Amino acid sequence: MTEAPVLLVTGGSRGIGAAVSLLAASRGWHVAVNYTSNQKAAEEVVAAIEAAGGKGVAIKADLGNAAEIVSMFEVVDKHFGRLDGLVNNAGIVDIPQRIDEMSAERVERMMRINVTGSILCAGEAVRRMSTKHGGRGGAIVNISSMAAKLGSPGQYVDYAASKAAIDTLTIGLAREVATEGIRVNAIRPGVIDTDIHASGGLPDRAREMASSIPMQRPGRAEEVADAVLYLLSPTASYITGAILDVSGGR
Ligand code: NAP
Repeated sequence: MTEAPVLLVTGGSRGIGAAVSLLAASRGWHVAVNYTSNQKAAEEVVAAIEAAGGKGVAIKADLGNAAEIVSMFEVVDKHFGRLDGLVNNAGIVDIPQRIDEMSAERVERMMRINVTGSILCAGEAVRRMSTKHGGRGGAIVNISSMAAKLGSPGQYVDYAASKAAIDTLTIGLAREVATEGIRVNAIRPGVIDTDIHASGGLPDRAREMASSIPMQRPGRAEEVADAVLYLLSPTASYITGAILDVSGGR
């Protein structure tokens, strides 16, 4: 078993998750970097962690698949022998559509990955970290979105609803495991300049929205990572059930 604390970052291969993985490694965490399709990106993050003297492992698992989630945690067990933190970061958007255009398949995929995947990952993490199960405690940070508050009308209200579920998961789970050594918090990023906008068919969305953001610019993945690492750290020892907006005032 490794001596260093171990962090699993879902969707750790690109965007916010990659920034969290790299910053965590620089702060002494060993990092399990989950991805689903872009193996090269995940291996690059692990290579950067190891080049800086840290330890990382890339783990392929589709968070829309319950069996793959279980296997992912088993790989973490085998590789590191412990788990101290989970960042529930992996998430998807879809192309802009009104609700009266959305198919059942689209909505089910959105909820399966963004909501069911995050809940199942949190359950696996609690099984390992809770003092009730013989664990040594830990921290969970869920990545929500300002969409949970703003609703994303005309763009993706299904995504916004999936992130509102993440806010509620955070509040309930924080209270459920508060006496078991586990703190659970969330970040609501605003518009962050990552590939996710291109995956929703709007590659320039982050830059185009600058004028609607009080700070007049999109955020950087590293700015979200700083907030995540704060919530994971012992400095945040009395913070649980909190939801922190990292949104440039949006
Ligand atoms: P991104 O650049 O699109 O990266 C997504 C990451 O999630 C990738 O590592 C991807 O893996 C992984 N992923 C996607 N589907 C997955 C699945 N089914 N199973 C496992 N991993 C999967 O996204 P991002 O902008 O960094 O967003 C990260 C989180 O922040 C998401 O939850 C998103 O909703 C939230 N957020 C983002 C923004 C923003 O403006 N960017 C704003 C608010 C909230 P592969 O590399 O293998 O594809």
